Amino acid sequence: MAEENYIKITESMYSLQHFTIPKHYEEAVESVILPHGLIMNRIERMARDIHECFNDESLKILCILKGGYQFCNDLTHYIKALNRGSGKSIQLGIDFLRVKSYKNDQSSGEVNIIGGDDLTHLKDKNVLIVEDIVDTGRTMERLLKTLEKYQPKSVKVAALLIKDHNRGTGYKPDYIGFQVPDKFIVGYALDYNEFYRDLNHICVISESGKKKYSI
Ligand code: 5GP
Repeated sequence: MAEENYIKITESMYSLQHFTIPKHYEEAVESVILPHGLIMNRIERMARDIHECFNDESLKILCILKGGYQFCNDLTHYIKALNRGSGKSIQLGIDFLRVKSYKNDQSSGEVNIIGGDDLTHLKDKNVLIVEDIVDTGRTMERLLKTLEKYQPKSVKVAALLIKDHNRGTGYKPDYIGFQVPDKFIVGYALDYNEFYRDLNHICVISESGKKKYSI
């Protein structure tokens, strides 16, 4: 995929007063970085790009919880619409995983997979990992390494967001929605200590939000 095949957001351009924010988060976010409508429009196009990449094969979607659930739900909604509205149809299977980096075994470069079905069913299948955000890329690189042992036919990664910095491993997902500034962002299922998942827009957290929801 060409490097520029995603939208680069360079600053927090939207003032809160132009959008509806739930009262409980009014003081807890600084600005809107991605309005919900824009997120949906971009995901619709990502679904088309993914649909075009596969022929009438089946696809196993691995949704990375918790942050990826909203993106995964909307992405599969649009892929299913393409299945109904075009001559081609890709049968979707879905599984949900939580991943945790091994604490005492960094050198293995693997992740601990929590929940989900037994992944041996991935053997010889096309797999699409659906993740909310890739920051340094370490989690995804480890997950990809861990999945290798299940011998899938192919593995692609769709991430709604990547961060704009050079601190990472250099890993780039196959499908990317937006590149966002290097700030802590919340909303659209991305959380801060489990809060903000119920916010539709993707926003920059405010200092008072960090204080209010710190543990
Ligand atoms: P990585 O291993 O790529 O550095 O980290 C990826 C994970 O870090 C994501 O799945 C997400 O859980 C978390 N993360 C990184 N940046 C942010 C952010 O700005 N906001 C939120 N809510 N989570 C983030």
